[in-house]
Amino acid sequence: AAAAPLLAITDLSVTYAGSIAALRGISLQVPRSGIVALLGANGAGKTTTLRAVSGLLGWHRGRIGGGDVRFDGDSIAALGGAALVRRGIAQVMEGRRIFAELSVEENLRLGAFTRHDVAGVRRTLEEVLEQFPILRERYRQAAGYLSGGQQQMLAIGRALMAGPKLLLLDEPSLGLAPIIVQQIREVIRRIADNGVAVMLVEQNADMALSLADHGYILENGRIALEGTGAALKADPAIRELYLGIV
Ligand code: ATP
Repeated sequence: AAAAPLLAITDLSVTYAGSIAALRGISLQVPRSGIVALLGANGAGKTTTLRAVSGLLGWHRGRIGGGDVRFDGDSIAALGGAALVRRGIAQVMEGRRIFAELSVEENLRLGAFTRHDVAGVRRTLEEVLEQFPILRERYRQAAGYLSGGQQQMLAIGRALMAGPKLLLLDEPSLGLAPIIVQQIREVIRRIADNGVAVMLVEQNADMALSLADHGYILENGRIALEGTGAALKADPAIRELYLGIV
């Protein structure tokens, strides 16, 4: 149905091997366009939520203990990473994870590993280089020589090479200077304006809530609060807990 959300997580519980429950029955939705932010303290379950959507739980010896994850109407809880990329889910993991010895071009092309439409890949590559001029300038250089901010642009560009419907971003502002964070913020805004739905995990609550159409606050593996980005940003408890403003 056209009105169905792109991503619907329902009553999802996740447990890691030898550990307590990381998610205890969370429900959240990402519409077909716009930005949804996921906030919360260290260990609240933000990264685990992204892993459950991108098929990476198994790599971390995590498993879904209950509930469901539906994308485009289908349950994807049993699918692995490559199948999910093919369906339209791309993730930028925390810490960027670019291949330092490979060139910028090679890193970008790896992002299209599931695609066989040569003309389409060429078109997406041109769009990505259009959007990140610095990547065109450094096209043949080893990615390890890029600055932290440039590596984050490369990681986002690589994810876009998959041609996703949904882009998962795990702490894209982490460790970056304020001026670079500002650039990343504009990049995320532009990606959403181009029609890619974005799910954004951030410690930087100020950045996340100013971008987000809707936000969820995770606490101890549960959704403690949700609302529009503006409403959460105006909420006194949120301001005190996450924005450091009393
Ligand atoms: P952070 O900002 O620190 O990444 P987070 O909100 O993303 O925090 P998660 O990384 O999802 O939180 O962690 C949720 C819970 O699951 C925590 O208690 C954490 O210790 C645990 N956890 C996360 N990854 C693993 C793993 N690979 N094995 C065992 N436990 C894990």
